[in-house]
Amino acid sequence: MKPAIVIHWFRQDLRLADNPALTAAVQQGAVIPIYILDDDNAGAHAMGAASRWWLHHSLQALNDALAGKLQVFRGEPLTVLQQLITEHKVKAVYWNRCYEPWRMQRDASIKATLSEQNISVKSYNGSLLWEPWQINKKDGTPYKVFTPFYRKGCLNAELPRSPLPMPESLPLAKISNDTDLASLGLLPTLNWADPFSEHWHIGEQGAHDRFQQFLDEGLSNYKKGRDEPALNCVSGMSPHLHFGEVSPNQLWYAVRSMGESVNIEHFCSELAWREFSYQLLYHNPNLPTENLQKKFDHFPWQQNAGHLAAWQRGQTGIPMVDAGMRELWQTGYMHNRVRMIVGSFLVKNLRLSWHEGERWFWDTLLDADLANNSASWQWIAGCGADAAPYFRVFNPVTQGEKFDAQGEYIRRFIPELGKLPNKYLFAPWQAPAEILKQAGVVLGETYPQPIVDLKLSREAALEAFSTLKAISQP
Ligand SMILES: Cc1cc2nc3c(=O)[nH]c(=O)nc-3n(C[C@H](O)[C@H](O)[C@H](O)COP(=O)(O)OP(=O)(O)OC[C@H]3O[C@@H](n4cnc5c(N)ncnc54)[C@H](O)[C@@H]3O)c2cc1C
Repeated sequence: MKPAIVIHWFRQDLRLADNPALTAAVQQGAVIPIYILDDDNAGAHAMGAASRWWLHHSLQALNDALAGKLQVFRGEPLTVLQQLITEHKVKAVYWNRCYEPWRMQRDASIKATLSEQNISVKSYNGSLLWEPWQINKKDGTPYKVFTPFYRKGCLNAELPRSPLPMPESLPLAKISNDTDLASLGLLPTLNWADPFSEHWHIGEQGAHDRFQQFLDEGLSNYKKGRDEPALNCVSGMSPHLHFGEVSPNQLWYAVRSMGESVNIEHFCSELAWREFSYQLLYHNPNLPTENLQKKFDHFPWQQNAGHLAAWQRGQTGIPMVDAGMRELWQTGYMHNRVRMIVGSFLVKNLRLSWHEGERWFWDTLLDADLANNSASWQWIAGCGADAAPYFRVFNPVTQGEKFDAQGEYIRRFIPELGKLPNKYLFAPWQAPAEILKQAGVVLGETYPQPIVDLKLSREAALEAFSTLKAISQP
């Protein structure tokens, strides 16, 4: 008898090891491995330009690992699946679950339609340690604050699933298909993404190599070092995790296998922040578009295209902010501490809506992730579930002095300030004329004057915030 033909639909799980749906699919028969680019259902949440660049290279790496048998398509997934099912007499479709509201809605509808046609659809959890509906308070409602979510919820829940090995054999069905990777058009027409390649080794192997480097060099100083952007103490796993080149389970068990320490514990708690974002998105499908705290609907945001452009280009005249925005532009990534600094500057000192920041990050971050990005921006803006209070305004000068004390990070991304002594590097506008001259800095020419006064803009933000105090939360 001929073996059954089944489909494994790769989505945010672009790997072979610890892939529960793929492992189950290969046990059923010959597998057609597919990826479908679905911009129509994604609508406003279609992938940004940087993510598309990553996706292209990740699909290429996956195709190599599958001996060139990955089939790519674009368009309506139900139509693609139904065509394949008819042409190849497919018996079952396997996938790992995605949790973006648009994907959940789409997948539920595909599952219902295919099930009616007697096609078996099997879905698995391949991208979260716990399902987003699994960790709840004793009364069954979801946690709104991270610390109890992690300490009382995650740490007392069933242990995450242990990682699965790579399937021993991969019986793949070869089919013909007119669409190839290049025709998905994921790469930009201008070559702005070329420099990203220096910083990333995309694909499953690249993810594991980078994580091993983190285990060897970063983990032992993670808790403290993760706040210092010049150091190499963070894992750099976020884009790999987003595209599922590695699973959180693999990371969780790899660090746990190294024993117990504050660094290991802290790394696991950061993985849990990702889980928290996903559970927030699951319970609040409007997280990307609506303030969780409704009183923020009345916040008097400013509109200022000039300020927004200066922020986007790393030309605000505030070195710590500009270094972060330039890191993002040059590498497709920004260190977490600096994401908080640039975010606070945008929503508080510039008083531009958090949606402006969220949109820019969505387009430019290689790890742009609907749950993490929206939850983090709501946190920064003060309107989220477990948000930084609005009155806590990060001061980018003192943040720089504290977390980039030697100015290494600023000098890496703002070479024109390279010769300024540390004393003035974080606030060049305070430097005496002679010092600026010696460092070859002409404010307003070689480097911008600050676009806002930090003290006055902070006061204006607090004043604007005070208008919300009178509004009672529904
Ligand atoms: C304004 C803003 C926007 C952000 N947007 C995104 C985004 O689009 N995609 C994204 O993955 N992260 C986002 N983050 C969270 C965080 O900055 C990144 O996950 C982290 O910097 C990734 O670097 P890393 O992998 O080296 O982190 P590590 O410190 O090595 O952490 C390991 C993993 O834990 C998770 N993690 C760590 N910190 C956080 C956090 N604060 N929230 C949620 N998960 C976390 C990530 O999956 C990360 O890869 C955002 C943070 C801010 C402040």
